[in-house]
Amino acid sequence: MSETFDIAVIGGGIAGLSAAARLSKHAKIGLWEQEDFLAHHSSSRSAAVFISDYGNSDVCELNLITFRELQYKYPDILKQRGLMSLEKNGEIDAFNSHAKSLGLSSISVSEAKEKAPIIDLKSVKQAAWRDDVFDIDTDLLIQTLRKECLSNGVHIFTNSAVSKLERNNNKWVINSKIQSDIIINAGGAWADNIAKLANLKPKNIQPYKRSMARVEIDTSNNLSSLPVLFGSDDTWYAKPDAGSMIVSPADVSPCDPHDAWADEEDIARGIYNFEMLMETKVTKLTSNWAGLRSFAPDQSLVIGPDAGSPNFFWLAGQGGYGFQTCLAASQITEDILFNHTPQVPTSLSEKFSPHRFV
Ligand SMILES: Cc1cc2nc3c(=O)[nH]c(=O)nc-3n(C[C@H](O)[C@H](O)[C@H](O)COP(=O)(O)OP(=O)(O)OC[C@H]3O[C@@H](n4cnc5c(N)ncnc54)[C@H](O)[C@@H]3O)c2cc1C
Repeated sequence: MSETFDIAVIGGGIAGLSAAARLSKHAKIGLWEQEDFLAHHSSSRSAAVFISDYGNSDVCELNLITFRELQYKYPDILKQRGLMSLEKNGEIDAFNSHAKSLGLSSISVSEAKEKAPIIDLKSVKQAAWRDDVFDIDTDLLIQTLRKECLSNGVHIFTNSAVSKLERNNNKWVINSKIQSDIIINAGGAWADNIAKLANLKPKNIQPYKRSMARVEIDTSNNLSSLPVLFGSDDTWYAKPDAGSMIVSPADVSPCDPHDAWADEEDIARGIYNFEMLMETKVTKLTSNWAGLRSFAPDQSLVIGPDAGSPNFFWLAGQGGYGFQTCLAASQITEDILFNHTPQVPTSLSEKFSPHRFV
């Protein structure tokens, strides 16, 4: 055996990187990523938005814990943007329930127009708003965590798929070469496949594809000051990004883990629904992409030791909130693996235990 680690993290997305960075203060860590570079999959394809009320009530607690740590430890990562939901059919109950689920308050359509001059007053029937929604500088966060890993001695293996996991003398043996006491499964859409490699029961973590397009629009308005815009019927959302707009059809298509790409029809539908409420038209589709949002059956993250093998630790099921939960999730990982005085209350962290699926 060439080398031995205390902890082997499988997956170089935001989940694996946040765990490796935090744990590297206490242990010798190796991080395995199957692609040539870190954050190749979901973690480079997100909308990069922080909405504290997005997810179920347990997930929302993780959002808040992550928010507080981002603010004091990495203050450059979050930038306030605001969020506005728009409705076109005058369906009051459906609109109110969508607004409530995201913690938005009703505003008049003329206020909405002041906040987002590109909207079409002839189409928008209702609007709702909240100030405290933020852009997440996901590239900066990933680079910051990567640097933290490197300066704490984490060995990052890129272009290194973990394809074999065996037990030998109470240690994991990775690809018949490297030993580790503990495995952290941060494999995103592949999390169940990694469990199967370790001969453990999968947790039915299901990837869903979501697409995104970068577009130019015909307007003299300053795009950078627009809020995140949501169709209250969940058929599109959009936000300014690097001088243009990104628009998603908010698609939720179940699939197997793969290197996802956008479907042209989904993109066209999202742009059409976006344009229905705007005064302006999309003039150019600059690029498009898709990523996988991987959910456990109850839509909560899966964080903790496997019931069948306590040295196999799940850090999966990040769904559509992997960035806004990442620091809380890595803190729970530290609390459990090092038996430290819990920084995240156990009454909360227990809710994410993989044991709930046994
Ligand atoms: C369109 C879209 C919009 C989103 N918007 C937001 C948002 O606004 N805010 C937010 O917080 N979240 C958002 N998300 C969700 C967020 O992007 C994900 O929850 C997060 O990126 C998941 O991170 P991860 O590290 O678990 O997965 P990934 O980033 O996919 O990382 C898992 C890694 O594991 C590697 N891997 C898998 N198997 C192996 C193996 N056997 N050996 C080695 N490596 C392996 C993969 O190559 C991959 O790089 C969005 C997602 C999408 C797709």
